[in-house]
Amino acid sequence: MSNCDQFREWFEAYALGALDAPERVALEAHLATGCKDCAKAVEEARWLVSQLAYLAPEVAPSDMLKGRLMRTVRAEVATTKDAVAAPRSNVPLWMWGAVAALLIFAVVTERETLQLRKELRSAEYQAAMYQKGIQDVEVKLKLAERENMILTDSASVKIMLAEAGPQQPRVNAIWHAKLGIVLTAENIPAPAQGWVLQLWLIPKETGAKPVPSHVMWPDEGGKFTVLVANPPGEMSATKALAITEEPEGGSSQPTTTPKWIGATK
Ligand SMILES: [Zn+2]
Repeated sequence: MSNCDQFREWFEAYALGALDAPERVALEAHLATGCKDCAKAVEEARWLVSQLAYLAPEVAPSDMLKGRLMRTVRAEVATTKDAVAAPRSNVPLWMWGAVAALLIFAVVTERETLQLRKELRSAEYQAAMYQKGIQDVEVKLKLAERENMILTDSASVKIMLAEAGPQQPRVNAIWHAKLGIVLTAENIPAPAQGWVLQLWLIPKETGAKPVPSHVMWPDEGGKFTVLVANPPGEMSATKALAITEEPEGGSSQPTTTPKWIGATK
């Protein structure tokens, strides 16, 4: 219910029996409509009032709170002056201290809760990033181990795609039938803007089309190393590896003639 907001500041006073008659009537009429939120708030206010004896806040009240307390105190003084007239309430004076304690408690608790929630979220975020960092390192380590196994296993086959003099492109692939291909390259000119390099498996079978594989691009030094962990074809069924330049994202069929090609022999 949207008009619940207007009651928000009355609950404590109501629980203390210190609410002015028109406000009390309005709140009770609202509670009579069966508003669960406000009923719960009143219940909580009553519980807090019953706990006041234990409260000993050691914090400065906020300006808003000071304002609320000053209004409360002034109202009380006014009532005391007109003491002959029917007193507005029979709340004992010490209770106003308790109200102050209650209000401070409520405001401080809310603020602390928000702060704790913020800190918790930040800690969770950091834990997640830390976890992700560990996973990244684990993945890199596994890939490095695999690369190392492919490069050192005597069952691996070396395929030269390009080897010329110094400063000329050098591209070679080490292919292990079970562990995959490690493709390394040096002195590679950067492809034009919007173009990449793409690896192809050329099948032995006559008339079969090249099978698309990894897309890569050299670093500033003209180098790249790529682990093709799951080549899209068997080494025994592959005649050669080839690299073409393709539009960004790669192609399903070569669109240019291979820049480098190497037979699996
Ligand atoms: Zn309500």
